[in-house]
Amino acid sequence: ARPVVAIVGRPNVGKSTIFNRIIGDRLAIVEDKPGVTRDRIYGTAEWNGKPFSIIDTGGIEIDGDDMIMKSIRMQAELAIEEADVIVFMCDAKSGVTQSDEEVAQMLFRSGKPVIVAVNKVDNIQRADDIYEFYSLGFGDPIGISGSHGTGMGDLLDAIVDNL
Ligand code: GDP
Ligand code: MG
Repeated sequence: ARPVVAIVGRPNVGKSTIFNRIIGDRLAIVEDKPGVTRDRIYGTAEWNGKPFSIIDTGGIEIDGDDMIMKSIRMQAELAIEEADVIVFMCDAKSGVTQSDEEVAQMLFRSGKPVIVAVNKVDNIQRADDIYEFYSLGFGDPIGISGSHGTGMGDLLDAIVDNL
């Protein structure tokens, strides 16, 4: 079976945008479990000759603002269970948030390889915004922009290096 990569992170950091850039049009399965899992989307991709499956866990959302953290915890649990490599997506504009720190602890305890992707690094002025993400404890953060597609090669290199 193909190794599995999961994308985890707060709502609106750009998980689905990056997921779509990675899979192109190779969408495999869309699951829909009303009430809990709105959609759990799987795709397939290949980089440097290495094929993998990828999950956009961001579809797991429970309605209501107070439930956002519960939804993110469920994403992280799913990723820890199913993924061989976890892409922890953060947002350069908001910086490191408390929920990022909470998710980081869960992911850290799992012992799985975690890549921190800092999205919305839309221009050179924002390039330095990635450094505070070293504090999450997963090594070099990778700056990307879903809007422009920059940094995707570095992110994909890091993913397949950890497969
Ligand atoms: P998700 O909730 O984590 O899946 O995030 P989405 O992929 O749905 O994106 C949330 C919002 O952020 C959308 O309005 C996107 O257009 C926007 N967005 C995604 N990537 C970028 C980026 O690199 N830069 C900026 N400025 N906005 C982005
Ligand atoms: Mg999404």
